[in-house]
Amino acid sequence: MAAMAGATWAQEGAATTQPAPSLALDGAFKDGLYTLPKLPYDYDALQPEYDAQPLKIHHTKHHAGYVTGLNQTLEKLQEVRKTGDYASVQALSRNLAFHGSGHMLHCLLWHSMTPGGKPMPASFAKAVEADFGTVEAMQAQFAAATTKVEASGWGVLAYEPVGKKLLVLQAERHQDLAIWGVVPLLVCDVWEHAYYTQYANNRGQWVAAFMKLANWDFAAQRYAAAVKI
Ligand code: MN
Repeated sequence: MAAMAGATWAQEGAATTQPAPSLALDGAFKDGLYTLPKLPYDYDALQPEYDAQPLKIHHTKHHAGYVTGLNQTLEKLQEVRKTGDYASVQALSRNLAFHGSGHMLHCLLWHSMTPGGKPMPASFAKAVEADFGTVEAMQAQFAAATTKVEASGWGVLAYEPVGKKLLVLQAERHQDLAIWGVVPLLVCDVWEHAYYTQYANNRGQWVAAFMKLANWDFAAQRYAAAVKI
């Protein structure tokens, strides 16, 4: 099994026509605007599992709506920064997360399906086995977790880069976790446990204090690493 995985890896590495690994999503962004990518197959290519009509509506109406909403929200935020009036920032931040996650997750969704399905290469199967025991166990957990998402949302197989682990996650709706795919650079904790004993309900004072402590050099280091992904 290990020899087989090694052979597959060497084979993959030797192919000079293979593009370098990248997290860029083809067709998802161009000339400063987010864009609706073309599907990597025809609308009728996933039949009978996914019919052409629901797929076309999903892509051209629902996904397109997220793209439009994301661009509009970014434009509105630019206006807000110009005026310095942040009264609408909460609603706009929610819209940013809602449309941004919608765009990223749908870009991933189209590539997460392919006509007839495709098995995983041996090198990836080895990583799955290390974290889930077997490939089948991961797939069973993925199917169960996805089925049990409360109301609307997503099942997600994800890589967690701190522990270098593969995880199966549920995303309820999708805007509650900001935009899926972003790399956090700097964070401020506003759970009550972070500030209540010192600042009580004056969250604004805690945030102002945090801004005096902020380590923008740390953010810059993470930015330098993130742009290399
Ligand atoms: Mn959808």
